[in-house]
Amino acid sequence: MKMPTRRQFVKTVGAASAASIVSRKSFAKTRAESESFVEAWNKPVLRRSLFADPIVIESIDLLKRDKQYFVRVRSKDGAVGLALTNRHLVNSLYPMFLIRVAPFFIGKDARDLDTLVHGVFTVKLNYKWQGAPFWMCVAWMEFAILDLMGKQIGQPVGALLGERFRDKTPIYYANGDRESSPEIVVEQLKGLIAKSGARAVKFKLGARMRYTEASNARDLAIIPLARKELGEDTTLYVDSNSSFDAPTAIRMGRELQKYGYRFFEEPVRFDDYEGTKAVADALDIPIAGGEQESSQYRFQWLIEKDAVQIPQPDLLFFGGLVRSIRVARMAALTGKKIVPHMSGFGLGILYVLHYASVVPNSNEFQEFKGDKDGIPYVVVDTGKPLESINGEIGIPKAPGLGVEFDPDYLNAAKVVQL
Ligand SMILES: [Mg+2]
Repeated sequence: MKMPTRRQFVKTVGAASAASIVSRKSFAKTRAESESFVEAWNKPVLRRSLFADPIVIESIDLLKRDKQYFVRVRSKDGAVGLALTNRHLVNSLYPMFLIRVAPFFIGKDARDLDTLVHGVFTVKLNYKWQGAPFWMCVAWMEFAILDLMGKQIGQPVGALLGERFRDKTPIYYANGDRESSPEIVVEQLKGLIAKSGARAVKFKLGARMRYTEASNARDLAIIPLARKELGEDTTLYVDSNSSFDAPTAIRMGRELQKYGYRFFEEPVRFDDYEGTKAVADALDIPIAGGEQESSQYRFQWLIEKDAVQIPQPDLLFFGGLVRSIRVARMAALTGKKIVPHMSGFGLGILYVLHYASVVPNSNEFQEFKGDKDGIPYVVVDTGKPLESINGEIGIPKAPGLGVEFDPDYLNAAKVVQL
């Protein structure tokens, strides 16, 4: 059923007193629904029963080599976990990691991961830092701990967090060029499809956080051109990175509908929740969003109010796999599919793969931006870096995150001190 538009909603709210009885009833219903969202959030994620004995975290180091930073965690009995961070962000954030996040985990039992990722948020007023920068630090910590735990029992990370139900996933290739002409971007998309075999692609609309007459003209040209050139069988998505106001987004959305696009990401400012909902209510094309989101309850609002049809937690910006699996569970309550946003750095795709291996309501296509890290690593199973073959990427099966960094490269890394 189509939700009422915002204008209709205002009309309803302004109606006579009989309506207020109805709205009190619907408040009770909404409350009950909210409780089931909270229950879905609160259910355990980590399969604690896989681990018989405590895994006490003894040391945590941040390592740096060139511009790359890694989190290395060691347990009391000598197991090691390692996770790559996002190099373009960690250089501004490492004091937060070293001061506010890492110390909390020392001496803790890794089997309590579900509660630890919440505990670190509430301890020492850390909640005042709520936002992607704080949660990113927690995500790096979590990834290293999960790598350690998986290696300890010989299981891939996904299998620690749910029933692993697939070994590979189709990807969509995301193109980030919004400066070039429609013709050039469409050629780039063809190139990405040719090299990866992807059956789905995404490209940019708007001018990033704003639009201009020129960007609108470009958008209105590329929407039909990409469909014409890439054919009916290619799944097309777009992302405006919060570029539009609601009326312009609705105008663009109608064009996208006309040409069979499958989602419209961040049509208006990401923190304009009512605006996002107004756009969603006015259009049939699914609205995707949530990559900037750092709050459980704001995600719940977006899902419950149907302001986004495709929630997109960023596995790093939202604080890791445990928290993002909780978002998927909330999404499942409303029958929504989830498309985790993929950070272009920090081996973002690796975490997306493990996530997609256990989240039943993940979208058919997972976001992929190619290898931007340029770091020497291989997938243990294949001896090669992650790659898309026939539009699909294999999900590592080896223990932990399932990748190995070049030991010579790592050996030259230095421990970062404050
Ligand atoms: Mg985006």
